[in-house]
Amino acid sequence: MNGDISLQLMSLIYIFILSIVYFLKRKYNFLESKIYKFLLAITTIILLLGISCSYLTLRNIYVGNLPAISIKIYFILLFIWFFLFIFYVFLNRTDVKYENIKTLAKLHPSCYIWFAFSFLIFAFVFILDTWMEINHVVFFNNELFLVYAVGIFGVMIVLFSLVFGNKGVPIYKKWGILASTIILLVIILLQFKYADISIISSGICLITLFQYFTLENPDLKYIDELNALKIKAEEANQAKTNFLASMSHEIRTPMNVIIGLSETILNGDVPKDMKEDIKNINEAGTILLEIVNNILDITKVEAGKTTLNNNPYSLADTISKLSHMVKMSLTETPIKFSVEINGNIPNTLMGDEVKVYQILMNILSNAVKYTKKGSIRFVIDSVITGNKDTLTFKVIDTGIGIKKADNAKLFEKFERLDQENTDIQGTGLGLAITKKLLDLMGGKISFESVYQKGTTFTVVIEQEIVDKEKVDFATYKAKKVAVDEYFDGSKYKILLVDDNLLNLKVAEKMLKKYNFEITSVKSGLECINYTKNRKYDLIFLDHMMPEMDGIHTLYYLKKRVSGFDTPVVVLTANAIEGSKEMYFREGFCDYLSKPIDQVELDRILREQLHIDDNETNNFIVNENEKAQ
Ligand code: ADP
Repeated sequence: MNGDISLQLMSLIYIFILSIVYFLKRKYNFLESKIYKFLLAITTIILLLGISCSYLTLRNIYVGNLPAISIKIYFILLFIWFFLFIFYVFLNRTDVKYENIKTLAKLHPSCYIWFAFSFLIFAFVFILDTWMEINHVVFFNNELFLVYAVGIFGVMIVLFSLVFGNKGVPIYKKWGILASTIILLVIILLQFKYADISIISSGICLITLFQYFTLENPDLKYIDELNALKIKAEEANQAKTNFLASMSHEIRTPMNVIIGLSETILNGDVPKDMKEDIKNINEAGTILLEIVNNILDITKVEAGKTTLNNNPYSLADTISKLSHMVKMSLTETPIKFSVEINGNIPNTLMGDEVKVYQILMNILSNAVKYTKKGSIRFVIDSVITGNKDTLTFKVIDTGIGIKKADNAKLFEKFERLDQENTDIQGTGLGLAITKKLLDLMGGKISFESVYQKGTTFTVVIEQEIVDKEKVDFATYKAKKVAVDEYFDGSKYKILLVDDNLLNLKVAEKMLKKYNFEITSVKSGLECINYTKNRKYDLIFLDHMMPEMDGIHTLYYLKKRVSGFDTPVVVLTANAIEGSKEMYFREGFCDYLSKPIDQVELDRILREQLHIDDNETNNFIVNENEKAQ
């Protein structure tokens, strides 16, 4: 008996320390934690009662009915403990969290049966216990067998439920449940064997302690909750990306028709007043396309899906394309534009040309948008050290400027500044994307601005040098940025495959300028049939088509059509990052995104049909530009 008291005292100290630690910690207040608090409280009272009962028996003190009453309360509490234990373990074996009993009952009305059943047993035990004659304190007898039976019954269901339980429960919880139920079983059996000493009170203390470290630990719960939130956030993000990707695809397809057809009409003979309207339609279409692309870009960058596609490229070409684009958009304004190059630009650099272009285009087009008079200067400094070229691009405008108070918001997405003073369109995404792309490339962006005087944006990036030979701008021939001459393609046969009739029409109109012999078909199957009977010089194949998509069609053509060696270009509205690489891997020889860009189409046609590209020098060097 003495040892029995010491064991219970030790247990009391443990449970006391545990309670302090537990109540001091920040925790979620879900139903299971509320029950655990009760378990802690009841364990403490059971231990106190167990100690006093054992003490009274040890000293042979019988004060009236006191031992009988104490032991009765002891067993009633023990019964409640078993009930709560089973309930607690059950709540832990699912990954659903309930705020309180009400929400649980709402979702699982069957739990009322469990409550009613427990209450009935409780009432039965209570009545039995009241009739019981207690002469001396025992912790196991025939009448009390029912209390333990409840415990054993609970252990059985818990084990059963664990075997067939929820798969979403973390492994440490499963072990926690399993171990605490087995401990409970062992303790009940020991108590059965040694009815005179209180083993059960120390036993439930041990289980409560054990549950703290396995099931109830607030820190582990936080980690679980964070993991669950992380998974949910990732899923939501994936759903958002998928949605945006398919939306962008859906939007790009009709945009192809709007931009493509308006462009072909503009290039033809149209009355002047109509030309103006069509030009507006074309411009609005281009802006809409830019918005779609921006949204797609920010989504990809934020999802961490943007990667660098480093390849050798010519920076002179990039600068040339940029300067051409800026000049084109400034034709109807009095703004002066100049390009100044300081230092030597190597012939070939290694980097992601598309992203370099996008970054510079964003800040240049902002300068165009936010400058009404004066000038825009595009200054490029190239400093070569070893095989590295440190490039500093400055875009200096005399535009509306940025207020000091707005400086911090500039690179935030969807932030558009000084809205009350401008009616300029935009999404507020350009600079956010630019900053993220530069972070990815290890580059930097900064700016200086005087409100209503002008702004200077500075971008610094470092690129590896592939070909050290410097570009001689005096004789530099830039790549085409506009198609000014359509070669005669009357001897070439082109097969166009797209399930969308309007898309076919747009592509046909663009190709007709070359006098090709064009065949248009609406499905992969038709494409296969046509290629079996006739040899084409080039095939433009849409990706997303019902029944047999472009990738399957190409696969079939290569494997099943004998002697098939026609170059196949994928025609797609899929502008997702990495899709280009995917198409090359699938065996396409090039990639043409919708809306079709005439210059890009011209490049592909010349490359695939081996037509000499008569390059033009459109890199116009102004008087104040210096090429070293
Ligand atoms: P958008 O131009 O589509 O609104 P950006 O992210 O490119 O989005 O730019 C964010 C905001 O920064 C713009 O709305 C504009 O207020 C301001 N801004 C950017 N560039 C300039 C500039 N060169 N001069 C004045 N304000 C600018």
